[in-house]
Amino acid sequence: MQTTETTHSISDFSVRLSLRGVILEAHASFLEYDDDLAGESFTGLIHPEDVGKFERAMESALFLERKQSFVCRLLRKGLLPIWMDCHMIRIPDTSPPEFALIAFDVSHWREDESRISYLATHDPLTDLPNRLLFNDRIAVNVASTQRHKQPGFALQLLDLDGFKKVNDTFGHVGGDELIKAVAGRLRMLVRDSDTIARIGGDEFAFILSGVQKARDAEIVAKKILAALHRPFRIDGKTLYISASIGTAIYPDHGKEPVSLFKHAEMAMYSAKDQGGNCWRLFDDLANQEKGDVSMESAMHEGIRNGEFLLHYQPIFCASTGKLRGAEALMRWENPERGATSPAVFIPLAETSGLIDLLGRWVLRMACHQARQWQENGFQDFYVSVNVSPRQFRQERLIDTIKGALDESGLDPSGLMLEITEGILMQDPERSGAILNELKSSGVRIAIDDFGTGYSSLSYLKKFPLSVLKIDKSFVDELPHCEEDVAIISAVLSLARGLGLSVVAEGVETEEQLDFLSRRGCDLIQGYLKGRPLNGIAFREKFLTNDE
Ligand code: C2E
Ligand code: CA
Ligand code: CA
Repeated sequence: MQTTETTHSISDFSVRLSLRGVILEAHASFLEYDDDLAGESFTGLIHPEDVGKFERAMESALFLERKQSFVCRLLRKGLLPIWMDCHMIRIPDTSPPEFALIAFDVSHWREDESRISYLATHDPLTDLPNRLLFNDRIAVNVASTQRHKQPGFALQLLDLDGFKKVNDTFGHVGGDELIKAVAGRLRMLVRDSDTIARIGGDEFAFILSGVQKARDAEIVAKKILAALHRPFRIDGKTLYISASIGTAIYPDHGKEPVSLFKHAEMAMYSAKDQGGNCWRLFDDLANQEKGDVSMESAMHEGIRNGEFLLHYQPIFCASTGKLRGAEALMRWENPERGATSPAVFIPLAETSGLIDLLGRWVLRMACHQARQWQENGFQDFYVSVNVSPRQFRQERLIDTIKGALDESGLDPSGLMLEITEGILMQDPERSGAILNELKSSGVRIAIDDFGTGYSSLSYLKKFPLSVLKIDKSFVDELPHCEEDVAIISAVLSLARGLGLSVVAEGVETEEQLDFLSRRGCDLIQGYLKGRPLNGIAFREKFLTNDE
């Protein structure tokens, strides 16, 4: 038997092969084979998945007459296969052709490689699968659901609310700490069969296998939201966060991984739009959109049929109980649908643009009404009108307001506009210019739902404001909730320092009223002293001259 001197000394393994892949000679002790392998088929030593690589290499070595290299797993007797780097040539001048193959142990490479592939598919901060691997897992779940006719699964996306603020306050190190802590909590909530991944800066994603009902997805989402509500300790400080979660279910909300992901994302953004800290299902969006179209046309019709009207909720002096003014609140009553809450139709009017029309109507109507009541003997009475974000952005807002005042003959001091912090902060410079112009015309400005926005307090000094309306949520648990007591006290002293009046909204109990008036709150509004009523009822109840 001819020896292939060139091959066996430097390599871990060497063989001489016939054209049909039969071993003619082998130095294979490295592979734990002590018996002679001559006469056996070489493919029997190769891991079945790698046989193709060998066959292609042999073919090329024969026809191209060049060295061929490939990496494959060789089988060892009774041991795990071992990764080998193989090089193969046709031995010159052999006929029939013979081949020499030498191989080197490269298992250490593969370890490195699996480390590299781990790094490429995992997020280094949290050790969770990353977006790349997550996409792959969606595809795998879709395929296996189809193949095994298994129930579907839920794809859940989570985005932390206001994470940028955390980064700004605690720096990136603090932000990273929080992400790690969040990942830790999330990991505890999912089952072993579920996948959890970090797919972006503050975005996490879940595959909940076997979860096919909205109700079950909701339970998981609520558990997650609750787990994130518990405070975090970052850098020695206590931190409270929340998240927005969107869910799409396979196959109901998308049969392809891409569309499924997109729909979960849409649901998540819709949760964000609702102010965060909530869960949305893609299905609800689809239904809502369908519902919205019919509601939008019903609104158009309602405007034509005069179904919109204004109610007025009285605002009283907290210490004397004297009526000072009223907030105008829009109402929509359709003979068939009944009353629809403004919390439902105002956002829709906002997106559809109908708010422009309705907003102008409210301003004119409210100014007329206030003027009429002033003429009836209530000279100091003022009306407070809500201005929506879209209305505030409109170029002609000032003209509309001036028009309503001129037309009704109401003195500008009889009109207050309610604007939320969020609206002002969208474009603080422009907001400042508009407010200054309104102020110089004599109209007063109130910040509505004060305390629920995120913006800094420094803007209070910059804008020409008159009133802060403390949101109902801070009033609800007075005087028992210590935190709310502290917040209200702080707002009252802040307002005093800045020369602003304060209206407390949603006052429902004597206890709340008593607390507020003792702390020096100027005005109160709430069910305790008066619910919103239509103009006639309002006049009868609150505007009798014989009080
Ligand atoms: P908002 O401006 O915060 O109005 C106060 C809401 O609190 C009103 O709800 C009022 O009825 C309710 N409220 C007042 N006192 C109490 C109380 O003691 N207890 C409870 N539980 N609720 C109380 P409403 O009328 O349903 O209006 C909801 C929202 O719709 C308003 O919130 C406002 O943002 C919007 N809205 C109403 N009318 C208009 C309008 O003409 N234009 C615009 N842009 N938005 C409006
Ligand atoms: Ca308001
Ligand atoms: Ca309010």
